[in-house]
Amino acid sequence: MLDIDMIYDYPLYRPPSEAYSLIIQITLGCSHNKCTFCKMYKDKKFTIKPIEQIKKEIDFFRRRVGYIEKIFLADGDALIIPTPKLLEILDYINEKFPENKRISLYASPKSILLKTPEELKKIREKGVKLVYIGMESGDNEVLKDINKGVTAEEITEASLKAKEAGFQISVTVIAGICGEKDSTSHALNTAKVINKIIPDYFSILCLVVHDGTEIDRKIKLGEFREASGEDILKEIRMIVENINIPKGEKVIFRSNHASNYLGLKGDFPEDKEKFLSEINFAIKNDYIRERNERYLKY
Ligand code: SF4
Repeated sequence: MLDIDMIYDYPLYRPPSEAYSLIIQITLGCSHNKCTFCKMYKDKKFTIKPIEQIKKEIDFFRRRVGYIEKIFLADGDALIIPTPKLLEILDYINEKFPENKRISLYASPKSILLKTPEELKKIREKGVKLVYIGMESGDNEVLKDINKGVTAEEITEASLKAKEAGFQISVTVIAGICGEKDSTSHALNTAKVINKIIPDYFSILCLVVHDGTEIDRKIKLGEFREASGEDILKEIRMIVENINIPKGEKVIFRSNHASNYLGLKGDFPEDKEKFLSEINFAIKNDYIRERNERYLKY
C-alpha cells in the first residue's frame, strides 16, 4: 500500500507560485546537477521513474485529491523525458484529473533544444502551459563560471522556441552570482537576453550560499567573496535600467523571494520607473532588508 512518504523522494522543490499545486514527481534529481551554487539535487541520482510507477502514483493522488486546477511535474528537468513517454504521462494525468487547468514543469534550455517544435507543440496541447527556466545570467563568462552547461545564445534560442510552441515561460536570474567581482557584464547581458526573449514572468533572486556547494568551497579557500546587499541592489538596478520591453508587451516581474534584499513586484514596461525609484530609495536610506537565514537554507 502506497503512502505519501513512499511516493515523494525528498527533498522536493517547486517554484513559489506552485504552492497550491499537486506535485507529481515524474523524475528524480536534475539531469545536469553541476551548477556551482546549487545544492537542490546533489544527493539524488537523476532518474526517470518507470511509467507504471508514475501511473500508480497518479492513481494514489486521484483517490485523495478532490479537485485540483494546477499540477507541477517535478523534479529538476521533467521535460527531458523522451516525448512519447511524456505524452503518455500527460494523457494519464488528463484522464485522471480532467479538471486541471494548468500543468507546469522545470525545463532546462538543453531539454527544450532537444525537442523538435512539433514535439513541443504536442506537449503544449496536452496541457503543459508554463515552463520554468533557470537562466541565472545572460553573460557567457558567468554561465561558464557557474558551470550552467549552456550559453546565453542557447538560453535565448530555447526560450524563444518554447514561446513559439505556445508555452508561457518563467525565467529566473541570480543577482550576486559574481560575488565581489564587477557584475556589469552580468547585469547588461542579462537585460539584453530578457529584452530578446520577453518572458511572461521574470524573477530576480539573490545568491544564497549553501554548505557543500562549489561556491561554498571557493569561499572557504578565499577564492570567492559574497557581494554586499547594497552592491546586489545596485546590480539589480542596472538590470532593471537596461530592460526595455516594448509597449503592448507585458513581463510580470517579481523580486520578492526570501533571498532578496528588497521586495519588488509589478510589470515591465509600465512599472520600470517605480522599480528604479524604490531601489534608489532603499540604497539612499540604507533600507536594505536583512535576510532571515532560517528561510534560506535547505
Ligand atoms: S541550478 Fe538547476 S540546472 Fe543547475 S544543478 Fe541546480 S537544478 Fe540542475
